[in-house]
Amino acid sequence: MAKLFDSHAHILDPAFQEDFDQVLTRTLEACGAIMNVGCESLEDFEKTVQLAENHPTIFAAVALHPANEPDRTEALMDRLADLARHPQVRAIGETGLDYYWMTSGKEAQMTLLRDHIDLAKAVNKPIIIHDRDAHRDCLDTLWANDAQSVGGVFHAYSGSVEMMEEILAHNFYIGIGGVVTFKNAKTIKEVAKAVPLDRLVIETDCPYLTPAPYRGKRNEPAYTRYVAEAISDLRGEPVDRIIDQTWHNACRLFKLDPEDLSLLDQ
Ligand SMILES: [Zn+2]
Repeated sequence: MAKLFDSHAHILDPAFQEDFDQVLTRTLEACGAIMNVGCESLEDFEKTVQLAENHPTIFAAVALHPANEPDRTEALMDRLADLARHPQVRAIGETGLDYYWMTSGKEAQMTLLRDHIDLAKAVNKPIIIHDRDAHRDCLDTLWANDAQSVGGVFHAYSGSVEMMEEILAHNFYIGIGGVVTFKNAKTIKEVAKAVPLDRLVIETDCPYLTPAPYRGKRNEPAYTRYVAEAISDLRGEPVDRIIDQTWHNACRLFKLDPEDLSLLDQ
Protein backbone atom coordinates (compact mmCIF):
# COMPACT_ATOMS: atom_id res chain seq x y z
CA MET A 1 0.00 0.00 0.00
CA ALA A 2 1.17 3.48 -0.83
CA LYS A 3 2.52 5.44 2.12
CA LEU A 4 1.49 8.99 3.07
CA PHE A 5 4.13 11.70 3.59
CA ASP A 6 2.78 14.67 5.55
CA SER A 7 5.28 17.24 4.29
CA HIS A 8 4.33 19.93 6.84
CA ALA A 9 3.13 19.37 10.40
CA HIS A 10 3.53 20.99 13.81
CA ILE A 11 2.93 18.10 16.17
CA LEU A 12 4.72 19.81 19.06
CA ASP A 13 2.13 22.57 19.02
CA PRO A 14 0.46 23.15 22.41
CA ALA A 15 -2.81 21.96 20.80
CA PHE A 16 -1.44 18.39 21.10
CA GLN A 17 -0.10 18.66 24.62
CA GLU A 18 -2.97 16.86 26.37
CA ASP A 19 -3.06 13.72 24.22
CA PHE A 20 0.32 13.79 22.51
CA ASP A 21 0.96 10.04 22.82
CA GLN A 22 -2.32 9.14 21.12
CA VAL A 23 -1.73 11.67 18.33
CA LEU A 24 1.77 10.31 17.83
CA THR A 25 0.49 6.72 17.64
CA ARG A 26 -2.12 7.68 15.03
CA THR A 27 0.52 9.66 13.12
CA LEU A 28 2.97 6.76 12.97
CA GLU A 29 0.15 4.41 11.90
CA ALA A 30 -1.28 6.64 9.19
CA CYS A 31 1.87 8.26 7.76
CA GLY A 32 4.99 6.61 6.47
CA ALA A 33 6.83 9.85 7.24
CA ILE A 34 6.21 13.43 8.33
CA MET A 35 8.15 16.67 8.18
CA ASN A 36 7.70 18.29 11.56
CA VAL A 37 8.33 22.03 11.55
CA GLY A 38 9.72 23.90 14.56
CA CYS A 39 9.56 27.64 13.96
CA GLU A 40 8.38 29.25 17.22
CA SER A 41 11.34 29.59 19.57
CA LEU A 42 14.71 28.21 20.57
CA GLU A 43 12.98 25.65 22.79
CA ASP A 44 10.76 24.62 19.86
CA PHE A 45 13.81 24.11 17.60
CA GLU A 46 15.51 21.91 20.21
CA LYS A 47 12.41 19.80 20.84
CA THR A 48 11.75 19.40 17.12
CA VAL A 49 15.25 18.03 16.53
CA GLN A 50 14.97 15.80 19.61
CA LEU A 51 11.69 14.28 18.41
CA ALA A 52 13.27 13.51 15.04
CA GLU A 53 16.23 11.87 16.78
CA ASN A 54 13.84 9.54 18.60
CA HIS A 55 11.60 8.60 15.66
CA PRO A 56 13.17 7.49 12.37
CA THR A 57 10.07 8.44 10.30
CA ILE A 58 9.73 11.93 11.77
CA PHE A 59 12.01 14.53 10.20
CA ALA A 60 12.73 18.06 11.32
CA ALA A 61 12.70 21.52 9.76
CA VAL A 62 13.81 24.56 11.76
CA ALA A 63 13.64 28.32 11.18
CA LEU A 64 12.22 31.40 12.83
CA HIS A 65 8.71 32.00 11.41
CA PRO A 66 8.34 35.49 9.88
CA ALA A 67 5.57 36.31 12.38
CA ASN A 68 8.12 35.64 15.15
CA GLU A 69 10.68 38.05 13.72
CA PRO A 70 10.44 40.31 16.80
CA ASP A 71 11.93 37.40 18.84
CA ARG A 72 15.09 37.38 16.74
CA THR A 73 18.30 37.49 18.77
CA GLU A 74 21.88 36.75 17.82
CA ALA A 75 21.99 33.79 20.21
CA LEU A 76 18.86 32.29 18.69
CA MET A 77 20.18 32.64 15.14
CA ASP A 78 23.52 31.09 16.15
CA ARG A 79 21.84 28.07 17.70
CA LEU A 80 19.58 27.77 14.66
CA ALA A 81 22.66 27.63 12.43
CA ASP A 82 24.08 24.79 14.58
CA LEU A 83 20.85 22.79 14.52
CA ALA A 84 20.49 23.29 10.76
CA ARG A 85 23.53 21.05 10.35
CA HIS A 86 21.94 18.17 12.25
CA PRO A 87 21.42 15.21 9.88
CA GLN A 88 17.75 14.75 10.86
CA VAL A 89 17.07 18.38 9.93
CA ARG A 90 16.06 18.01 6.28
CA ALA A 91 14.94 21.56 5.53
CA ILE A 92 15.16 25.17 6.65
CA GLY A 93 11.67 26.42 7.42
CA GLU A 94 9.23 27.64 7.71
CA THR A 95 10.55 31.00 6.66
CA GLY A 96 9.16 33.62 4.31
CA LEU A 97 6.98 36.70 4.57
CA ASP A 98 3.74 37.27 6.43
CA TYR A 99 2.01 40.52 5.48
CA TYR A 100 -1.21 39.41 7.17
CA TRP A 101 -0.07 39.50 10.79
CA MET A 102 2.62 42.13 10.18
CA THR A 103 4.21 41.62 13.59
CA SER A 104 7.27 43.34 12.13
CA GLY A 105 7.94 45.53 9.10
CA LYS A 106 8.54 44.31 5.56
CA GLU A 107 12.25 45.15 5.61
CA ALA A 108 12.91 43.24 8.83
CA GLN A 109 11.00 40.24 7.48
CA MET A 110 12.93 40.29 4.20
CA THR A 111 16.23 40.48 6.10
CA LEU A 112 15.24 37.42 8.12
CA LEU A 113 14.21 35.57 4.96
CA ARG A 114 17.55 36.42 3.29
CA ASP A 115 19.42 35.12 6.34
CA HIS A 116 17.50 31.86 6.17
CA ILE A 117 18.25 31.52 2.44
CA ASP A 118 21.96 32.02 3.21
CA LEU A 119 21.75 29.36 5.93
CA ALA A 120 19.97 26.91 3.61
CA LYS A 121 22.71 27.41 1.01
CA ALA A 122 25.44 27.00 3.63
CA VAL A 123 24.04 23.64 4.77
CA ASN A 124 22.74 22.68 1.31
CA LYS A 125 19.19 21.95 2.44
CA PRO A 126 15.86 22.95 0.84
CA ILE A 127 13.71 25.83 2.09
CA ILE A 128 10.10 25.62 3.31
CA ILE A 129 8.34 28.86 2.41
CA HIS A 130 5.49 30.54 4.28
CA ASP A 131 4.00 33.22 2.03
CA ARG A 132 0.94 35.01 3.33
CA ASP A 133 -0.30 37.99 1.31
CA ALA A 134 3.30 38.63 0.17
CA HIS A 135 3.61 36.81 -3.16
CA ARG A 136 5.70 39.25 -5.21
CA ASP A 137 8.14 40.24 -2.46
CA CYS A 138 8.56 36.60 -1.52
CA LEU A 139 9.35 35.46 -5.07
CA ASP A 140 11.67 38.40 -5.72
CA THR A 141 13.62 37.90 -2.48
CA LEU A 142 14.04 34.19 -3.20
CA TRP A 143 15.23 34.50 -6.78
CA ALA A 144 17.44 37.53 -6.11
CA ASN A 145 19.26 35.51 -3.46
CA ASP A 146 19.57 32.36 -5.57
CA ALA A 147 17.27 30.23 -3.41
CA GLN A 148 16.69 28.13 -6.53
CA SER A 149 20.18 26.64 -6.05
CA VAL A 150 18.85 24.67 -3.06
CA GLY A 151 15.15 24.63 -3.98
CA GLY A 152 12.32 23.95 -1.60
CA VAL A 153 8.57 24.09 -1.29
CA PHE A 154 5.84 26.73 -1.06
CA HIS A 155 3.88 25.22 1.79
CA ALA A 156 0.10 25.78 2.04
CA TYR A 157 0.36 27.29 -1.43
CA SER A 158 -2.04 30.20 -1.89
CA GLY A 159 -1.06 31.68 -5.26
CA SER A 160 -2.39 31.38 -8.80
CA VAL A 161 -1.63 28.85 -11.53
CA GLU A 162 0.53 31.50 -13.21
CA MET A 163 2.60 32.02 -10.06
CA MET A 164 2.92 28.25 -9.75
CA GLU A 165 4.65 28.18 -13.15
CA GLU A 166 7.21 30.72 -11.93
CA ILE A 167 7.84 28.64 -8.79
CA LEU A 168 8.24 25.40 -10.73
CA ALA A 169 10.73 27.08 -13.05
CA HIS A 170 12.85 27.94 -10.01
CA ASN A 171 13.31 24.45 -8.55
CA PHE A 172 10.54 24.70 -5.94
CA TYR A 173 7.65 22.33 -5.22
CA ILE A 174 4.00 23.14 -4.51
CA GLY A 175 2.64 22.08 -1.11
CA ILE A 176 -1.14 21.60 -0.89
CA GLY A 177 -3.09 21.00 2.32
CA GLY A 178 -6.59 21.01 3.75
CA VAL A 179 -7.75 24.16 1.94
CA VAL A 180 -8.12 22.10 -1.25
CA THR A 181 -11.04 20.26 0.42
CA PHE A 182 -12.96 23.51 1.07
CA LYS A 183 -15.96 24.02 -1.19
CA ASN A 184 -15.27 27.66 -2.13
CA ALA A 185 -11.47 27.37 -2.54
CA LYS A 186 -11.49 27.82 -6.33
CA THR A 187 -7.91 28.83 -7.06
CA ILE A 188 -6.18 26.06 -5.13
CA LYS A 189 -8.44 23.51 -6.85
CA GLU A 190 -7.24 24.89 -10.21
CA VAL A 191 -3.65 24.63 -9.00
CA ALA A 192 -4.20 21.04 -7.81
CA LYS A 193 -5.42 20.12 -11.28
CA ALA A 194 -2.67 21.97 -13.14
CA VAL A 195 0.42 21.11 -11.09
CA PRO A 196 2.66 18.47 -12.69
CA LEU A 197 2.28 15.39 -10.52
CA ASP A 198 6.03 15.11 -9.96
CA ARG A 199 6.19 18.59 -8.34
CA LEU A 200 3.39 18.26 -5.79
CA VAL A 201 3.66 17.45 -2.08
CA ILE A 202 0.77 17.14 0.35
CA GLU A 203 0.57 18.34 3.94
CA THR A 204 -1.68 19.04 6.90
CA ASP A 205 -0.03 22.11 8.54
CA CYS A 206 -1.65 20.64 11.65
CA PRO A 207 -3.08 21.76 14.03
CA TYR A 208 -4.32 24.35 11.49
CA LEU A 209 -6.14 24.17 8.13
CA THR A 210 -8.11 21.02 8.93
CA PRO A 211 -9.54 19.34 5.82
CA ALA A 212 -13.20 18.48 5.33
CA PRO A 213 -14.91 16.51 6.87
CA TYR A 214 -13.17 17.75 10.05
CA ARG A 215 -12.98 21.42 9.09
CA GLY A 216 -13.11 23.62 12.20
CA LYS A 217 -11.67 20.91 14.45
CA ARG A 218 -8.02 20.28 15.32
CA ASN A 219 -5.96 18.90 12.44
CA GLU A 220 -3.43 16.06 12.71
CA PRO A 221 -1.10 14.17 10.32
CA ALA A 222 -3.50 11.23 9.98
CA TYR A 223 -5.80 13.56 8.01
CA THR A 224 -3.26 13.88 5.17
CA ARG A 225 -5.34 11.19 3.46
CA TYR A 226 -8.27 13.60 2.99
CA VAL A 227 -5.99 15.97 1.10
CA ALA A 228 -4.85 13.15 -1.17
CA GLU A 229 -8.47 12.09 -1.75
CA ALA A 230 -9.57 15.62 -2.68
CA ILE A 231 -6.71 15.94 -5.18
CA SER A 232 -7.50 12.50 -6.56
CA ASP A 233 -11.15 13.54 -7.16
CA LEU A 234 -10.12 16.81 -8.81
CA ARG A 235 -7.62 15.18 -11.15
CA GLY A 236 -9.59 12.01 -11.81
CA GLU A 237 -6.60 9.89 -10.84
CA PRO A 238 -6.51 6.99 -8.35
CA VAL A 239 -5.79 8.12 -4.80
CA ASP A 240 -2.99 5.56 -4.45
CA ARG A 241 -1.23 7.16 -7.39
CA ILE A 242 -1.45 10.59 -5.71
CA ILE A 243 -0.19 9.17 -2.41
CA ASP A 244 2.64 7.22 -4.01
CA GLN A 245 3.81 10.05 -6.26
CA THR A 246 3.73 12.66 -3.47
CA TRP A 247 5.69 10.24 -1.27
CA HIS A 248 8.41 10.05 -3.89
CA ASN A 249 8.34 13.82 -4.39
CA ALA A 250 8.72 14.55 -0.67
CA CYS A 251 11.59 12.07 -0.48
CA ARG A 252 13.31 13.75 -3.45
CA LEU A 253 12.74 17.21 -1.95
CA PHE A 254 14.11 16.27 1.49
CA LYS A 255 16.86 13.98 0.13
CA LEU A 256 15.56 10.73 1.58
CA ASP A 257 15.64 7.27 0.04
CA PRO A 258 11.98 6.51 -0.86
CA GLU A 259 12.51 2.82 -0.04
CA ASP A 260 13.87 3.05 3.51
CA LEU A 261 14.06 6.81 4.29
CA SER A 262 17.82 6.72 4.71
CA LEU A 263 19.52 10.11 4.34
CA LEU A 264 20.88 10.58 0.84
CA ASP A 265 23.38 13.33 1.63
CA GLN A 266 25.28 11.66 4.46
ZN1 LIG B 1 3.33 25.63 9.25
